[in-house]
Amino acid sequence: MKVLVTGGAGFIGSHIVEELVDSHYEVVVVDNLVTGHMKNLLPQVSFYKRDVRKDMDEVFAKEKPDYVIHQAAQVSVSQSFTDPLYDCEENIVATLNILQSSAKHKVKKVVFASTAAVYGNPSYLPIDEAHHVQPISFYGLTKAHAEKYIHLFAHTHNLDFSILRYANVYGPRQDAHGEAGVIALFIEKLICGESPVIFGDGNQTRDFVFVKDVARANVAALENGKNEIFNVGTGQETSINEIIDHLAVSLRRPIQPTLRPPREGDIRSSVLKNDRAQSMLHWAPCYSLQEGLLKTVQFYQQENPYGVQEVIS
Ligand code: NAD
Repeated sequence: MKVLVTGGAGFIGSHIVEELVDSHYEVVVVDNLVTGHMKNLLPQVSFYKRDVRKDMDEVFAKEKPDYVIHQAAQVSVSQSFTDPLYDCEENIVATLNILQSSAKHKVKKVVFASTAAVYGNPSYLPIDEAHHVQPISFYGLTKAHAEKYIHLFAHTHNLDFSILRYANVYGPRQDAHGEAGVIALFIEKLICGESPVIFGDGNQTRDFVFVKDVARANVAALENGKNEIFNVGTGQETSINEIIDHLAVSLRRPIQPTLRPPREGDIRSSVLKNDRAQSMLHWAPCYSLQEGLLKTVQFYQQENPYGVQEVIS
């Protein structure tokens, strides 16, 4: 079976590609490398440097994928405010383009990377898939609209889908320069000998899910959970202060964070209920937060051996 992964040179996409290769799928990656990197790609993968907003038909006609996993996107919440038009093109128009090619070339299923940002401010916790969809960022809004296009395509074109709403994903290869990954950001600061910055008192919580677990959920969704939406999270609430404590253990040194005033619009608490993914995708997260953080720290230590020596001493 052949799977076309858009955004396969990015953080999550590259882990999905590895999981697919390990599971003996043939893999084709389409990525314009706007935030992805060639070094993230395995050599046995076919790669097309293409923009998924533009004509994809040639790639689909040539490769004839059985499945599509659509990860390519504009992923920054703050950029969605400064450039909502780009966010719209990347997250709605590009998805529409992928749906059209998928329908035309009789793809069996499209698996779509959505986000907990579609829920907006939670009215209850843990958030299940029936929770209202009321995004408070353009990023959440464009992902919510992409979901609606996917639903309508299933209806009008018989194109099967699974929509995966990810919690806060962390792990090796996350871009420490975006604001999406607080853990990558903290580790990079620590490796440079700087103090990590916490906005607020640090008691705000999130659901941190390790990237390899997210990759397994995508592969599970190829063959399970037809035309359903799934939360992909751990079901565990973790505060930013707890993350700092775990990192102190992993790095074997005390950490003194810098506290700044809370940022306007930041959600206080978030955690996703993952029962539906457990029962219908037969998926559950394997990595504890401690294991995931240790693997992430080890990755950044290998990337920055000089800086790490400085931190640990
Ligand atoms: P990333 O930026 O590392 O990956 C995105 C990839 O898509 C990159 O390789 C980039 O080059 C590629 N890309 C972007 N626009 C493209 C285009 N027009 N044409 C071709 N390729 C393009 O981000 P990520 O964190 O790996 O995110 C992957 C997916 O997961 C996204 O859809 C994102 O919205 C979703 N998501 C991520 C998180 C998280 O915590 N990281 C949480 C929820 C949802």
